[in-house]
Amino acid sequence: MSKQLNFASKVIHAGQENEAATGAVIPPIFATSTFAQKAPGSNSGYEYSRIKNPTREALEKMMAELELGVGALAFASGMAAITSVLELLQPHDHVIVNEDIYGGTWRLFEKLKRYSSGLEFTYVDMGNPDAVISAIKPNTKMFWLETPSNPMMRVTDIKAITSIAKDHNILSVVDNTFATPYIQKPLLCGADIVVHSVTKYLNGHSDVLGGVVVAANESLHEKLAFIQKCTGAVLSPFDSFLVLRGIKTLAVRMEKHCSNAEYIAGFLQKHPKVKQVFYPGLTSHPQHAVAKSQMLAGFGGVVSFAMHGEQEDIVKFMQNCRLFTLAESLGGVESLIEQPLTMTHASLDSSHKEKLGIDHSIVRLSIGIEDPQDLEADLIAAFK
Ligand SMILES: *Cc1c(COP(=O)(O)O)cnc(C)c1O
Repeated sequence: MSKQLNFASKVIHAGQENEAATGAVIPPIFATSTFAQKAPGSNSGYEYSRIKNPTREALEKMMAELELGVGALAFASGMAAITSVLELLQPHDHVIVNEDIYGGTWRLFEKLKRYSSGLEFTYVDMGNPDAVISAIKPNTKMFWLETPSNPMMRVTDIKAITSIAKDHNILSVVDNTFATPYIQKPLLCGADIVVHSVTKYLNGHSDVLGGVVVAANESLHEKLAFIQKCTGAVLSPFDSFLVLRGIKTLAVRMEKHCSNAEYIAGFLQKHPKVKQVFYPGLTSHPQHAVAKSQMLAGFGGVVSFAMHGEQEDIVKFMQNCRLFTLAESLGGVESLIEQPLTMTHASLDSSHKEKLGIDHSIVRLSIGIEDPQDLEADLIAAFK
């Protein structure tokens, strides 16, 4: 039924059935590790909660429908989800990665997986399809995309890059955390797998860590479910309940995040202390046309900008903010401010940061759903 619904209805109803025993309208928190069996090996479809738990399953069904996949799996964090996707690979496989990715993903690839699994990673500017093609080697098995990227808000043309992947029999994975399925549907653009940190917009209330993997076809979904069963970094029933509760307001929250972010991006563009604003919704953004073609319902709630001044001026500005809290993370109802160089992206090699343009001047805002004029007033006061 819910397959035919529009997005704002899907977030309320997809995968949600009234609970069989009591008719509870909201999927209950099934706080149980195991399930009684009628006879050895004869179970109700549930045997042990690492493999399947009804509360987590309700969230997984919801996510599969929102991302237009065949199945979804929920993990204990975004990084656990990403780690599980890498388990599809074998030692010495090669992955081509968007050069402008989440710092934690870079750390997992470079500081852990390169050594623990013998994987190879090459970072390229995926805005340039020729650079992607020339980075392909005989052992290239996966493309890793993140768009819009963090913190520079660069946009990758998902269709262009996934079609290169298909031509070469390479899997493509899109981290859709920043856009969410409200805005962007990577599987529809040709990706094989979507990953999320549900910690951000999907949960939306900064009170849960979680991750999700959605697969485009059955065989990939089965492999990923097997990996989840083996490695066991599953989302708890309570956190699954909270994320489902958050998702019910995803459409209304995202609409407000996007309109507030557009408003603040416009304000920053005109402010004398601001050198440059990075937001895909601005016509001045170099990939605005690509963004418009694949971001179908807005441009998201993250705005980065380069500010004039020395490190101490930028620290002072961030500390002067009252409504914007100085903190890592993004995607919650409350607005946050941070400096990628010293916070979210501190673990990147300095040469990598330099190449991406992440210096002390870059400030990242996660625009919440407060009143936009209050947010503007807070920034005006902090700049003074
Ligand atoms: C936060 C984030 C992650 C990691 O997710 P956690 O839930 O913090 O483990 C991965 N990718 C992106 C784009 C993120 O913003």
